[in-house]
Amino acid sequence: MPSTTIAMDQWRNAPRPARACGHVHDTTSRYDHAGKRLDFLLVCPVCGTETVIETLDYEPHFEPLGASVHALPPRRDPQPVRRAA
Ligand SMILES: [Zn+2]
Repeated sequence: MPSTTIAMDQWRNAPRPARACGHVHDTTSRYDHAGKRLDFLLVCPVCGTETVIETLDYEPHFEPLGASVHALPPRRDPQPVRRAA
């Protein structure tokens, strides 16, 4: 059996989080700075209930290099302000 078929079977048989209601849920993510954790959630916009689908340990490693703020170049041909008639 090809490995992709095994992966799909595992996905189909994976336990799904129980939903508290029958509304259409939004997906969102939330970062916990203190815990350095990234949560992926299903959120019901009606009930406000949240269900954590997956949690990842995550810490950004961005380090600014020296002075990175540059002035914007002047516009060559300023666009006239469009106004309604
Ligand atoms: Zn709901």
